[in-house]
Amino acid sequence: MSVIELEPLVRKLSSPLATAVAAPGRVNLIGEHIDYNDGFVLPMAIQQYVVIAAGKLKTAKRCCSFKSLQLDESFELDLDNTATPDPTAGWRNYVQGVIAGFQELGIEIPSFEAVIHSTVPLGSGLSSSAALEVAIATTLEQLTGHTLTGPQKALLCQRAEHEFVGVPCGIMDQFTSVLATANQLLLIDCQTQKFQHVPLESTNVAILITNSNVKHQLADGEYAKRRSECDSALKKLAQKSWRDVSQQDLDAQQHGLSPTEINRSKHVVSEIQRTLQAVQVLRQNDFETFGELMYQSHNSLRDHYQVSCHELDALVEIAQSIGRSGGVYGSRMTGGGFGGCTVSLVDANRADAIVRRVMSDYQNQTGIVADCFLTKPARGAHVLK
Ligand code: ADP
Ligand code: MG
Repeated sequence: MSVIELEPLVRKLSSPLATAVAAPGRVNLIGEHIDYNDGFVLPMAIQQYVVIAAGKLKTAKRCCSFKSLQLDESFELDLDNTATPDPTAGWRNYVQGVIAGFQELGIEIPSFEAVIHSTVPLGSGLSSSAALEVAIATTLEQLTGHTLTGPQKALLCQRAEHEFVGVPCGIMDQFTSVLATANQLLLIDCQTQKFQHVPLESTNVAILITNSNVKHQLADGEYAKRRSECDSALKKLAQKSWRDVSQQDLDAQQHGLSPTEINRSKHVVSEIQRTLQAVQVLRQNDFETFGELMYQSHNSLRDHYQVSCHELDALVEIAQSIGRSGGVYGSRMTGGGFGGCTVSLVDANRADAIVRRVMSDYQNQTGIVADCFLTKPARGAHVLK
């Protein structure tokens, strides 16, 4: 974001600008629903950011104020009273959780005001929540002069989401928003929390994110169900980690697994393998095989993990019908499922025509207008000013 785009935010501050920061949303290219199953994920930061402009306040009381331009909502927070979340408080909890995390480290936070602007769509699976947390954490680093390591900062933000918002998310969203670098994907081993960057530098391909603009209400309950089905299957398989379960194990003996548990296991085991294979083929710039793996991932999420929905399937089928000859390498649902977005790997030179076709076919089939964004792997959280 350029300095000029910051101006409208700065004008909304009552005090001089102390710092401005940006933290991106993310999209996961492959490795879905295995972050909480000892798997690997392969996300990247997107070119959509939460941007915060902050100024220090001279107040008698230690407090801070936040204004979200997206929601057109503001709130104030007493800095001496941050430890208890308020379940009814909505987005305030993301912010308060990060502030409480800094305070727990013994870091003194000065009174300040913050204006928040975001281009990450809210609640579409592109992790506007992690972007918000990481942007707040980056603001606090600037205001206090205390810098955390990347993983420390990501884990602090994850804990805010667990403890203050009540969402038991994995580490992918916050790790990506903090640690991503331009033109690289981030391969995260969710078992060890080790990560490495995997280049995606070719200017011949682009990432197309398509927001189905539906969100089926099933999502939360089904997520908890999937987690417990996987835990129960792993117990029956008498293993501690999904890393130790092979396809052959599953084929040879099903250990009293229920049909549902067999399906969930098939997804987890195959998705772990697919993600590793995807990294290998990407290192050889083999976009065709990478795209095939994306389709396989989608099919497994649809049939075995059963977290897709009619609209996501329609978007993937449209991508598939455009096909290699039309410039699409592969496509899949991304994020938790039951709505949200698909991600596709496309020929950068034909991206505009692909977007037009996806939008019009999707509207014809479902009556819904999709949103499409083209993006390259973007830079993680950084200071603008
Ligand atoms: P996702 O992270 O996929 O976008 P979540 O449901 O996890 O979806 O997070 C969305 C929530 O994060 C919003 O409902 C809101 O509470 C909070 N949030 C994200 N961005 C902003 C913003 N710019 N201003 C205020 N709240 C935000
Ligand atoms: Mg989120």
